[in-house]
Amino acid sequence: MERQRVCVLGSTGSIGVSTLDVIARHQDRYEVFALTAHSQVHKLADQCEQFRPEVVVVGSAAAASELQLLLTEKKLSTEIAYGPAALCAVASASRCDVVMAAIVGAAGLPASLAAAIAGKKVLLANKEALVMSGQLFIDAIEKSGAVLLPIDSEHNAIFQCLPRPYSRRPSAHGIHKIILTASGGPFLHRDIATLDHVTPAEAVAHPNWVMGRKISVDSATMMNKGLEVIEAHWLFATPAEQIEVLIHPQSVIHSMVSYQDGSVLAQLGNPDMRTPIAYGLAYPDRIDSGVVPLDLAKVMQLDFHAPDFSRFPCLSLAYSALKTGRSAPTILNASNEVAVQAFLDGKIGFRMIDRIIARVMDRLPISAVPDMGAILDCDLETRALTNEIISA
Ligand code: NAD
Ligand code: MG
Repeated sequence: MERQRVCVLGSTGSIGVSTLDVIARHQDRYEVFALTAHSQVHKLADQCEQFRPEVVVVGSAAAASELQLLLTEKKLSTEIAYGPAALCAVASASRCDVVMAAIVGAAGLPASLAAAIAGKKVLLANKEALVMSGQLFIDAIEKSGAVLLPIDSEHNAIFQCLPRPYSRRPSAHGIHKIILTASGGPFLHRDIATLDHVTPAEAVAHPNWVMGRKISVDSATMMNKGLEVIEAHWLFATPAEQIEVLIHPQSVIHSMVSYQDGSVLAQLGNPDMRTPIAYGLAYPDRIDSGVVPLDLAKVMQLDFHAPDFSRFPCLSLAYSALKTGRSAPTILNASNEVAVQAFLDGKIGFRMIDRIIARVMDRLPISAVPDMGAILDCDLETRALTNEIISA
């Protein structure tokens, strides 16, 4: 079997590191074509030593020269590039077969979309890219014939619970509902009155998953689940009314599909992203991911309850953005990214995140976003207004 050449966008992040862990277990199946990181050059240099990519991409000229010194010390002659255009170039290169899209936030959109347009096998972790660009992204996938495999654990679970051969037409599947499970994050039971005073450290301390800082805060506000509702809408061509969120604190059932005949299919496993990553890499095969097998006798109990929308206003904001459509999800995503960063920087309190997003959504007119230019304009305009509201 010829080895597949993989480009890992965001290789120094939580998903990037887990991806390389799975690849390291299957060097007979995969080789690393490219690695990219924004600024963590030491970690990237170590990854270059282990995985010997052809190309690496970093965020700036300064990071590129720093990396060059480290690679020279290691006697590696890896090609080094920097900046957004270089990210798109590696994601669409003819020498690349598979792209793991694991950059966090809107910054990942151009390269994720470039992989889709180039017809790659796209493993999508970068949910913000799909939330921002929705129809445009799906159109690109369908036009190029790219294979889009969801890596987000919920969507990967749903994908596993759908019939084969897979088609994006929900009517072909007899789906009643898609049920996205959610842990509820670190503040599921915390007194709402004290939420104004939680610190970034408390917000990123997720009970079940170890993840990057942005998605960890999103899990605490449940905007993460909101973004996932929008993600599910695009991935599985399912309307908002048929996508339900269910709190399941143990994070053992990663999501479910409820069918019209009364059957409900679920995918279970220990909460470790290497399972969906391995599934995406090897699909339709199954390979060892390094994840410990699930022992239900040890888990003992699986709990479920409906989410409390008053505790998690971000969830309502996301549903309403999806129902409004057009530029609303792009605005939701951009204002959330700016507000979360401001919270992590200590500029605003936790509860200000949802209040600021709501204010931005109220103030900006909703428009059509037919192309990348319109999406990026909307993203920039939203960031400017969000920053203005934060500094007011
Ligand atoms: P992370 O913060 O750990 O890593 C982010 C990666 O993106 C890093 O490699 C960083 O160098 C790179 N990056 C950051 N800003 C960049 C920029 N401006 N330009 C280029 N590269 C940049 O994040 P993560 O937790 O690995 O999440 C990555 C993506 O996967 C997110 O979209 C997240 O929502 C999604 N996701 C993550 C998990 C998880 O368990 N961590 C689960 C599901 C989905
Ligand atoms: Mg998820």
